[in-house]
Amino acid sequence: MEATSGEPASTSSPPAPTPAPPSRPKKKSQMEVEGYPVEGISIGGQETCVIFPTLSVAFDIGRCPQRAVAQEFLFISHAHLDHIGGLSMYVATRGLFRMRPPTIFVPACVADLVARLFEVHRAMDQSELAHKLVPLEVGQEYHLRKDLKVRAFRTYHAIPSQQKLKQEYLGLPGSEIKKLKLSGVEITNTVTTPEIAFTGDTMSDFILDPDNADVLKAKILVVESTFLDDSISIEHAKEYGHTHLLEIVSQSDKLENKAILLIHFSARYTVEVGISYHCLRAGCQQNFYSCN
Ligand SMILES: [Zn+2]
Ligand SMILES: [Zn+2]
Repeated sequence: MEATSGEPASTSSPPAPTPAPPSRPKKKSQMEVEGYPVEGISIGGQETCVIFPTLSVAFDIGRCPQRAVAQEFLFISHAHLDHIGGLSMYVATRGLFRMRPPTIFVPACVADLVARLFEVHRAMDQSELAHKLVPLEVGQEYHLRKDLKVRAFRTYHAIPSQQKLKQEYLGLPGSEIKKLKLSGVEITNTVTTPEIAFTGDTMSDFILDPDNADVLKAKILVVESTFLDDSISIEHAKEYGHTHLLEIVSQSDKLENKAILLIHFSARYTVEVGISYHCLRAGCQQNFYSCN
């Protein structure tokens, strides 16, 4: 038995309104810093992934935001999960889309553990997870291209496995070198200019490290600034192994960078911190940006 109810449908009833096409989410306006488009997300303790798409580079992978998958080179600053959590998904997703296996740079002290992590995933799901893993010691360099290399530099965070991060440079041959090159002479003396330095999580002590002169000269310094106001003191920031914005401002005379991109704000800050910090302190020469 079937129960029915209601009036029979009338052929003269008005047609149902055509559904509107799904509206696309508004594209977030892209940040550009010193000529480099910059994308990504960075919230302290949650996820950090800063992307320079024109270099095909991501610094840290966070939870693997979609845009990170397109980047061929990944630099992991340290093994806290808010920086490395999405690593396996990054490699797996590139494999799924048949993209070139990525090159992943990690601090040498965690390289074996990262290799084991991939072995565990392979054992669990029979996947290939193809990638090239490059351990970097502090001071060690690696050429991404003929004119682009990276060098790991020391930072100061909470645990020993977190002391190595990366810096990018562009090698710019001078006119003399070019002449020699054209005449077939082997070029051994290349002028390099530091372009981008990325600190990951660190105390502000990296500023005082004499080996980090190039970091302070890089065109763009991407630096963590986990704490922003008086609710957390500079001393507390140090106890947690992090940097306070006031330390960056008070030492800005040591920073020769043209632009400073602040990342890794604590999730305690709920207000939009703003894109520009031009007026942070009278006398600051740098342009300040934030990634949150
Ligand atoms: Zn972190
Ligand atoms: Zn950390």
